[in-house]
Amino acid sequence: MSTTEKHHFQAEIQQLLDIVIHSLYTDREIFVRELISNAADACEKLRFRQASGQPIYQPEAALTISITTDEPAGTVTIADTGIGMTHGELVENLGTIAHSGTRAFLKQLAENQRPDAKLIGQFGVGFYSAFMVAEKVTVLSRSALPEEAGWRWVSEGGAGYELEPAADLPRGTQVVLQLKADAKNFARGEEIERIIKRYSSFIQFPIELNGKRLNTVQAIWARQPGEVKDEDYHEFYRYVGHDHEKPRYRLHFSSDAPLAIQALLFVPQRNFETLGLGRVESEVNLYCRKVLIQSHAKGLFPEWLRFLKGVVDSEDLPLNISRETMQDSALLQKLNRVLTGRFLKFLEEQAVKDPAAYDEFYSEYQRFLKEGVVTDLPHREALGRLLRFESSALEAGKRTSLAEYVSRMPAGQKEIYFLQAPSRQAAEASPYFEGFQARKFEVLFLYDPWDEFVMDHLHTFQDKPLRPAEKADLDVSDAPGGEGALSAEAAADLAKWLKETLGDKVKEVRVSRRLVGSPAVIVDSDALMTTTMRRILRAAAREGAVPSPERYDLEINPRHAILVRLAQERQADPALAAKVAEQLLDNARVAAGLLEDPRAMLQRLNELLERVLGGAPAGRA
Ligand code: ADP
Ligand code: MG
Repeated sequence: MSTTEKHHFQAEIQQLLDIVIHSLYTDREIFVRELISNAADACEKLRFRQASGQPIYQPEAALTISITTDEPAGTVTIADTGIGMTHGELVENLGTIAHSGTRAFLKQLAENQRPDAKLIGQFGVGFYSAFMVAEKVTVLSRSALPEEAGWRWVSEGGAGYELEPAADLPRGTQVVLQLKADAKNFARGEEIERIIKRYSSFIQFPIELNGKRLNTVQAIWARQPGEVKDEDYHEFYRYVGHDHEKPRYRLHFSSDAPLAIQALLFVPQRNFETLGLGRVESEVNLYCRKVLIQSHAKGLFPEWLRFLKGVVDSEDLPLNISRETMQDSALLQKLNRVLTGRFLKFLEEQAVKDPAAYDEFYSEYQRFLKEGVVTDLPHREALGRLLRFESSALEAGKRTSLAEYVSRMPAGQKEIYFLQAPSRQAAEASPYFEGFQARKFEVLFLYDPWDEFVMDHLHTFQDKPLRPAEKADLDVSDAPGGEGALSAEAAADLAKWLKETLGDKVKEVRVSRRLVGSPAVIVDSDALMTTTMRRILRAAAREGAVPSPERYDLEINPRHAILVRLAQERQADPALAAKVAEQLLDNARVAAGLLEDPRAMLQRLNELLERVLGGAPAGRA
């Protein structure tokens, strides 16, 4: 009587396998890394179970990973004495999309002309890399739960797999690969040894190949920073970070108070979120005296530091703590505070030590720092010191810190000014900028649509208010070039007439003291609202948010020729003057980026052009 069960793979898994089997030809050797990494995970889980005092099957069996090759038979076997899998776990883990990563990986493969096999482990589907080289995969597994039994899982990569009981298995898992004809080289011991040395030197368990011990197990984070070679750090990073590049930054430190911590943290070269892979998950593993408490520990760092990878080891953690209660423990919060503070200090040091490298880091990771300013109140001030912006005082492409800005402030300047604009060119041409230029006040140029929002949250820096340029109270009316300007009285008169003419389109019209070369600007009547925020609110309203009522004030430049002539023309030709007034307002809206449909004003503009060219408006008497 056969007890063999036949199972189907879930559709996504089948799709994944199809790609793995038929399209991935390069870097096939990474299957070794993936299977060893699974074996190591299984050993970590067993060690955790053991440390927390729960019963295990065959407690005397030491934690090891053994690999055997059989060249004549064309097989390679990766065996571990780890946690093993029950029947249910085999079904769940090797055949269903237990990991959201499956879909993400499929998407990446679909978008990529040349799918990168190296990425497979990052998506939590590493097991299936076995099918790059094997025509048949057999998994023999005996769970560490004493009351369980052994199982044999077999698949040839087609529609499904078979599952049947297997007697007399030792604790743990053996993965037997029957190699494809073109992958027989992986049945050679030397080949496997080379690959293990390349990818798996930092596995925290002994690895044996055909009975010979390969690695020396060492918790690199527990050693003195001075004793560790750069190359070892890089390899360790490649291992914990599932990355094939070198890390961008590395922080290795230990502390005794307020908590005993040993940490080795890495910043990857690239911000994976910009690669379109969606939100990254923190990849920092939490250990207590070298026993893994939780991989990809949640809550160890604030969300905005989710790009970090590495290891944190703290002796102060109770070993028998459950992973669930761990998440909201006061201890974890304390750990979080200490680690975050230390990492921020590290970044500040790096910014001083090597500004060019920091600038590259900033280009890649600024969004995370800004997210921190907005969401992480306790660290807001420190994060403010890490921000960098282009500035009117520096050449294009160079960025300044807020501290440097403050150090350049002339005696009369009390606030830090910034201007949100789509580009440097737009910022420099902005009517909101010209007054600052005349006063020789520096203005930070903000190009990231988040920036103004970030500044709003930061609020002050070194006790100096952060002020949007358009909201600054700036007086340049004494600047040269004022000959021929309207008198104060005439200007006030004109403002009054403009308000009457424009009616509800503006809340108030007033004479500006801050304009130099532009005829007029609009300013939001709400003191706390800027034109950028208006644009954001409008976009939100299009997405269904309640539209917020908009009212603007018009500020006019009494020195500008248009206004001077308009003051005369409003008596001589009131109809024309009214058109000019409307156009003046629309032009100010364009400059503020708030005129969404310019078509309406085109007709008026055309009429005005006709007038300039000397004719009566077409079609009118
Ligand atoms: P990941 O390791 O990222 O979770 P994999 O595709 O490599 O993704 O493995 C899927 C799951 O299968 C693992 O999470 C684990 O639960 C299980 N698994 C794989 N190999 C082993 C093993 N050697 N021992 C125990 N469980 C394993
Ligand atoms: Mg894995």
